[in-house]
Amino acid sequence: MLTDHRTTVVAIVATVTCLGLTSCTAASAQDDATPSGPPRAADGVLPDHTSAYDTDLPGIAKLDPALRKAVQQAETAMNHDGIKMQVTTGWRSKKYQQELLDKAIRKYGTKKKALEYVAEPDESHHVTGHAVDIGPTNADDWLTRHGNRYGLCQTLTNEIWHFELATKPGDDCPPMTDPTKN
Ligand SMILES: [Zn+2]
Repeated sequence: MLTDHRTTVVAIVATVTCLGLTSCTAASAQDDATPSGPPRAADGVLPDHTSAYDTDLPGIAKLDPALRKAVQQAETAMNHDGIKMQVTTGWRSKKYQQELLDKAIRKYGTKKKALEYVAEPDESHHVTGHAVDIGPTNADDWLTRHGNRYGLCQTLTNEIWHFELATKPGDDCPPMTDPTKN
């Protein structure tokens, strides 16, 4: 009930806000990123050594709450094992995702090749808040071995750092997707 009510209020506020703007396109309530200039914290850019508990940062705050909680639990368990993890990317605005894709196109020469490494803004699970990139490598290794305790799985064959909620806690992880085979 509470959630339904809040959703309605957000929708009404968004509608009213849109009425006051001449160029009100497809801006969603979730994607209120900076309109110009390089991506910033408001777009989900995270500083070095960001913890999953740094919920004052938009890149962490706008994650799916269930994913965020799972990553926090994993971080705590990892700390007990003497491993310090950081979230290198959590939620990203569409603008930030587009900039990463543009960069990859410049780097790899074609969009087709770039899409093996960076998803379209409309396809990226980071943009919806359903993916995290974790570092450093020993933290990735820990998560690959123990992440399923929290439902966390590596989901892309070519990204050892990319994790999503992809199984029930304690179950095996599903087969990964190979983005190079699209
Ligand atoms: Zn990722």
